[in-house]
Amino acid sequence: MERDAKNADVKITYATMSADQMEDLHRAIDRAIEEVGPQFGKAYPMHIAGRAVEGRGTFDDTSPIDTRLLLGRFQKGTRDQAGEAIAAARSAFPAWAARPWRDRVDVLEKLAGTIRKHRWELSVWMGYEAGKNRLECVGDVEESADLITYYCDQIRKNGGFVKSMEALGPNEQNLSVMRPYGVWAVISPFNFPLALAAGPAGGALVAGNTVVFKPATDTPLLGLKLYEMTVEAGLPPGVFNVVTGSGSTVGQELIENPAVDGIVFTGSKDVGMHLLRENAKRPAPRPVITEMGGKNPAIVTRSANLEKASDGVMRSAFGAQGQKCSACSRVYVSREVRQQFVDLFVEKTRTIKVGNPLDRDVWLGPLINEAAVRTYERAIAQAKQDGGRMLIGGRRLTDEPLNHGYFVEPTVIDGLPREHPLFYEELFVPITVVADVASLDEAIELTNRSEYGLTAGIFSEDDRDLAEFFGRVNAGVLYANRRAGATTGAWPGINSFGGWKASGSSGRGTGGPYYVQQFMREQSRVRIR
Ligand code: NAP
Ligand code: MG
Repeated sequence: MERDAKNADVKITYATMSADQMEDLHRAIDRAIEEVGPQFGKAYPMHIAGRAVEGRGTFDDTSPIDTRLLLGRFQKGTRDQAGEAIAAARSAFPAWAARPWRDRVDVLEKLAGTIRKHRWELSVWMGYEAGKNRLECVGDVEESADLITYYCDQIRKNGGFVKSMEALGPNEQNLSVMRPYGVWAVISPFNFPLALAAGPAGGALVAGNTVVFKPATDTPLLGLKLYEMTVEAGLPPGVFNVVTGSGSTVGQELIENPAVDGIVFTGSKDVGMHLLRENAKRPAPRPVITEMGGKNPAIVTRSANLEKASDGVMRSAFGAQGQKCSACSRVYVSREVRQQFVDLFVEKTRTIKVGNPLDRDVWLGPLINEAAVRTYERAIAQAKQDGGRMLIGGRRLTDEPLNHGYFVEPTVIDGLPREHPLFYEELFVPITVVADVASLDEAIELTNRSEYGLTAGIFSEDDRDLAEFFGRVNAGVLYANRRAGATTGAWPGINSFGGWKASGSSGRGTGGPYYVQQFMREQSRVRIR
């Protein structure tokens, strides 16, 4: 995994980097900051059938680091325009689907290469737009390229998913062929604005579908950058279209328009469930893949290495300001080691530097918007009212220059009853609640009580504990003793990533061996000679 950062095919994951690579990375990011600055404030059109299209008015995309920074102006797309984009994707579909799969793999690999080529510039834009730190942004960009490459590999490995079947007689030839559906809508969240656009879109496209993509309103810029990458990589006009605008207009049209053949959504449980319900009202079935929220626990047992555990929990609780679907937002710690663990966890949290995430020594940036700050403040107030103790944090940061952005302190809360809503609701802010447990059994029971089932982690030096944990926890992604992240940091081709229960509808992980097939349907072909 670790290669030279100067090398064009460097690989930077969320967890792997040497000191030399780090120096090179920072130099490259410093340069990209210089280059990106003069491009602030431009207006960006939407792109339908390869044409630049204006919406009905525009909206401003400002940075959560400092809202006085106008990053760009984006189009308020209308429902009609979303409809036009769907029609464009529909007309582009037959030719794209008819291409040999090897051609499509070539084009998509070019797209992955284009993303890698622009990695530094994309990372810097992302830092400004999503407020994530340097390493998080570079990881997001690298992951985008790797997801696409992985889906290309899957198509190649499976010979385009054309398989010979058995025959009942000598004159018979039977084939199973996976074929694309048609037009897919890709709806993405703000927190991984490139990976969760490029990944699903890449899967849909390499499988032979065409795409209409709607980025989150908080992160349209990275969405438009992805479009630019597809043009540079040579995707034909109409194969990938991008519309910007609100979920309730453009997004809703993507759900309701009868010409959309499939939807892949990543975002909150509320919106994902709304989508599934709307889908069920249609006269005929249609695939809808929803990747949704999480309330991910870490379990710390009596035999845990507490240095590892406190590092792992701190990174997963607060990385990207707690705005990862896989963030660790609750901890069940064995009574015997509770005090020691909490002391280490709080001590490490104290060393976190909050500030402009584009500064090289800053680890924690701002929340995405004012609504997220309100969620944070509401949760803190609720915790205090219900007897919770702030072991650290609990305040919005309002000193100059942080008062121009959405900065809050990473927060650890103790002393709440284990039935408290803060153990169950996804908040998507840097708050983690800690409870102590008498046994592993109890910890697993509490883990599974959540409606969510995305990720979970355990720290234990006892193999029997690990076997129990792996066997009994109902979640899609399980980690044991992972110092780099107790519950976060999956990588394409290394850890499939997907949720169970309210965390996901498909039971197939992104970046895993069963993902890309979801964008195809099987056709059985029987031929008698
Ligand atoms: P969100 O509010 O649910 O929005 C996700 C996307 O859905 C946005 O593009 C949004 O558009 C759009 N949308 C909203 N209403 C819609 C509607 N009626 N019809 C169609 N689309 C609609 O989520 P978010 O705040 O951006 O992201 C955070 C959430 O994503 C968290 O719950 C997190 O756990 C989850 N997430 C899950 C995964 C996973 O892999 N399981 C990964 C990352 C994030 P607007 O922005 O215009 O409202
Ligand atoms: Mg949102």
